[in-house]
Amino acid sequence: MQKRKKFLATENLNRLAKWLRILGYDTMILKNASFAKVRNVAQKERRIYLTRSSKEAKSPHRFSRLLLKSDNFQKQLCELSSILEYDQEKAFTRCPLCNRQLLKIEPCKIKSRIPKYVFENFQEFRYCRKCGRIFWQGSHYHKMKNMLKEIIDKDKQHPIL
Ligand SMILES: [Zn+2]
Repeated sequence: MQKRKKFLATENLNRLAKWLRILGYDTMILKNASFAKVRNVAQKERRIYLTRSSKEAKSPHRFSRLLLKSDNFQKQLCELSSILEYDQEKAFTRCPLCNRQLLKIEPCKIKSRIPKYVFENFQEFRYCRKCGRIFWQGSHYHKMKNMLKEIIDKDKQHPIL
């Protein structure tokens, strides 16, 4: 089985990083890191470095990297769409803010922390052990899912189901 891609993004790609995590990709951001440090981490952890700097993209060092041309996260996702996939099993399993894998949790354990309507209408909840946020598949989820599928599957041939 092919290993799933991992990314390392510059701080100005924060929004893109959030969406890559929603797709389930391990996407790290190093704050205030030097280019040398970034290269080191990318090489060691086999991460693809994502940058908006053509200087960094053209540097003679040998490590995987991709230059993003747009400053809009949706266009950036389009730029990456050929190497991304929408995997139903992986999507929405990672915290968009912390990059941590989310854990499933029983609704009764978080009843006091979610709106009554949500508790009554949803069965599956996941939470982030780092930031404590709770996630469920509300209307927001469907909008995000459609947006991602549209971008990623746009250029790929898919049979109409
Ligand atoms: Zn989190």
